[in-house]
Amino acid sequence: MLDAVWVVDARTLAIVAANHAAGRLTALSVDELVGKTMSELAVTPEDQCFWGEVASGLSEQIESDTLIARADGSVVPVTRRVSRLDAHGAPFYVVALHDRSEQLRTERELEATAADLRATLESTQDGILVTDLAGRIRNFNLRFAVLWQIPKNLLGQRDDDAVLEWMRRSVVDPIAYMRRLATMDDVTMLQANDELRLHSGKVFERVTMPQCSQGRPIGRVFSFRDITDKLQAEQRIETLSYTDALTGLPNRRLLADRTEVAMAAARRDGTPFALLFLNLDRFNHINQTLGRVLGDRVLLDVAERIKGCVRGVDTIARLGSDEFVVLAHQADDGGAHATATRLLDALKRPFEQGGMSFTVTASIGVALHSSDGASLDELLRHADGAMREVKHAGRAGYRFHRSRPGATDTRSRSRMRLDHAMRTALVQGRFRLHFQPQVDLKNGCVVGAEALIRWRDPELGEISPNEFIPVAEESGFIIAIGDWVLKRAVTQAAAWRSVGAGMTVSVNVSALQFQQPGFVDGVAETLREAGLPPHLLELELTESILILDAKDAMLRLQALAQLGVKLAIDDFGTGYSSLAYLKRFPIGRLKIDRTFVSGLPGEESDAAIVQAIIHMGRALRLQIVAEGVETDAQRAFLERAGCDLYQGFLYAPALDVAAFEARMGFASVAPNVARETAADGLVVPIMAMR
Ligand code: C2E
Ligand code: CA
Ligand code: CA
Repeated sequence: MLDAVWVVDARTLAIVAANHAAGRLTALSVDELVGKTMSELAVTPEDQCFWGEVASGLSEQIESDTLIARADGSVVPVTRRVSRLDAHGAPFYVVALHDRSEQLRTERELEATAADLRATLESTQDGILVTDLAGRIRNFNLRFAVLWQIPKNLLGQRDDDAVLEWMRRSVVDPIAYMRRLATMDDVTMLQANDELRLHSGKVFERVTMPQCSQGRPIGRVFSFRDITDKLQAEQRIETLSYTDALTGLPNRRLLADRTEVAMAAARRDGTPFALLFLNLDRFNHINQTLGRVLGDRVLLDVAERIKGCVRGVDTIARLGSDEFVVLAHQADDGGAHATATRLLDALKRPFEQGGMSFTVTASIGVALHSSDGASLDELLRHADGAMREVKHAGRAGYRFHRSRPGATDTRSRSRMRLDHAMRTALVQGRFRLHFQPQVDLKNGCVVGAEALIRWRDPELGEISPNEFIPVAEESGFIIAIGDWVLKRAVTQAAAWRSVGAGMTVSVNVSALQFQQPGFVDGVAETLREAGLPPHLLELELTESILILDAKDAMLRLQALAQLGVKLAIDDFGTGYSSLAYLKRFPIGRLKIDRTFVSGLPGEESDAAIVQAIIHMGRALRLQIVAEGVETDAQRAFLERAGCDLYQGFLYAPALDVAAFEARMGFASVAPNVARETAADGLVVPIMAMR
């Protein structure tokens, strides 16, 4: 016998015989074993009791697990089978003992392995489900229950059908789901990878593989991974490549797609469409003044207003900083005209950002399909060109593309060419200065004139200051031009004063020029040289000058004011109409920008803005000058509203010196003759001759 066996006398409970295996089990020799009693070998109280009571009543065989003490004091787990035997009338027990040490060790190892497996299962981010070949659930981890949001009671009941049914009902397409499971049942070795969409909006990636034991499939392991966030991130990246990150509007790529669609429609049935290229005016000033963050908010506001102007089918795209494009479907020039007007109107309401209220105007260029181009690039180029023409003509408006060949094509004048031509023009004396009368609204007297530069290039023709001044500002050449204008204007004013026609001459000053270190001294020097009393010179500054470097600007303005020079804010209303700013500066006049005057008296928002500026000016004791007055109705409105002065085509455009003098009715004077005459500081109003 392989197992240990000993024979016990039922009356004395002492061993009468034992085999060698029994010796090995107890670490005793067979001789030593014989004579030992059961209570000597018993380890537990239960065993003592067993031999005391249970064994005596034993009729047949009994088997139980117990422990046996070895000679070295250690203990061996055994399975013990006891049978009763009667020999020659005397009762014996035959005890067979099977050593369980090995088995227990294996069991413990298995348990440890199982614990490891469980820990591994629970530590993964994937939900794991193990089934047998019949689809019964054999195991799952907690994450599985959480992912599928399986109710606790279902798990507690260990009701497989209910859990599987729950899963079936959770997926968006249960039919496909079941079909797939059926396939897996058929093809036990199938390894598969697919996506499950759930009603909850979640998306799982499911990986399934057969579970094998000794090379044969015994079940199936499913792992579920929540890829909802990953998919959303991918979706976002996809969206980003078609939209502008700031406004969420389509970008150029999506605009190209939509234009393709519109062109296909045009090929099919000749449906026209229009591209409107919108560029904000002076947006870099807004950015510089308010900072990028608020600048971005302004762009968002602009995007919202544009949305309010177009139909749902139209596309609004943002191409870059302050460039927007509207693709207007089924729009001919009438439709494009209407859209452009709506866009400009929508921007007229003041914007509020960073505690400031200000207006943002835009220039719009329009290109029509197919007359102005057969591709997006061509249409955009032409719309862009038309937009630039609007800028040159003074901004805040719209224009259609028209093909204009030849020398007058402004687009052919590159900035560099302009800059070069300007430098030559100054040396060769090609710049001229014109003067536009400023009229007192109460009595019709001309009380001053604004000096405006003019330039005719032999090749490029007459070029508007709106076109070359920005180029000069960018290259820095504006400083030289500004010096020339100041000298010329001051000399002219002194000449007029010498013939008794003293009037204020207003000179436009660019920001860069104003910021030059020697600017104030230069002005003083120019006045002294010409002998002009400082109060007959007015400098027109833009609001941006005050805001860009407020502290430095303040010092300069105070120095100029001390000198006696008058100061005006030009283009008022297009910048940052902050009262707080104006109060602090020694400003004498505000000039209402002509974009507000143009809508008078009909446009309600223009009328409201103009009235508000006049009120504000009153409160700050400032004189108000309205620019760009072209009609009598505008003049009448301004007069009623309490405006002080006006200038505009209604009275006269900017005139050359001869025309100006003829119009004013005073004798022509050579600028350099007229020093000593007329009393200092005396302004002689000239009656306006209508
Ligand atoms: P600004 O200072 O706002 O000048 C007024 C502009 O409006 C002038 O255009 C003038 O000719 C025009 N204008 C006057 N009355 C009317 C009217 O009734 N209707 C319309 N639609 N326009 C009218 P201009 O001369 O083309 O000058 C454009 C701009 O160029 C000026 O705007 C000013 O910012 C700048 N500029 C002109 N001369 C100088 C200069 O000497 N130095 C500097 N730094 N800038 C200048
Ligand atoms: Ca001006
Ligand atoms: Ca102006």
